[in-house]
Amino acid sequence: MKEKLYCEVCGRETSVLIPVIIDGALVYACPRCAKLGTPVKRKTEPPPPPRRPVPRRRGRSPDLLAVEWELVEDYGRRIREARNRLNMTLDELASRVGERRSALAKIERGELRPTDQVIARLERVLGIKLRFKIEEKS
Ligand SMILES: [Zn+2]
Repeated sequence: MKEKLYCEVCGRETSVLIPVIIDGALVYACPRCAKLGTPVKRKTEPPPPPRRPVPRRRGRSPDLLAVEWELVEDYGRRIREARNRLNMTLDELASRVGERRSALAKIERGELRPTDQVIARLERVLGIKLRFKIEEKS
């Protein structure tokens, strides 16, 4: 036996109820009233919760296993200072670390995050540390 359905908006009996948003509230309305609201995508079966993508780096949350280190915030300044200390031009450094000059300039301004590979090379070439270890809480 089928349960009778009543529209939550007009109160009329209806064969089908459509979930819609009316005035910010979710209501089940008959097709006629549903036109007054914003349709809500809803299947009869709630979809399984989407698998949460593992955040690559978000703060220092302890459940991050893939990342044991974090880039220092002032990496750009550190790179520029180290480069100046070594009297190295941007071009020289770029060729040493295998990065484009324009990209390196952006990195020094803190506008571009260097790739892990470039970070490692910059550390080696400039003799500086650009990473700090993320403390693991156990
Ligand atoms: Zn209705």
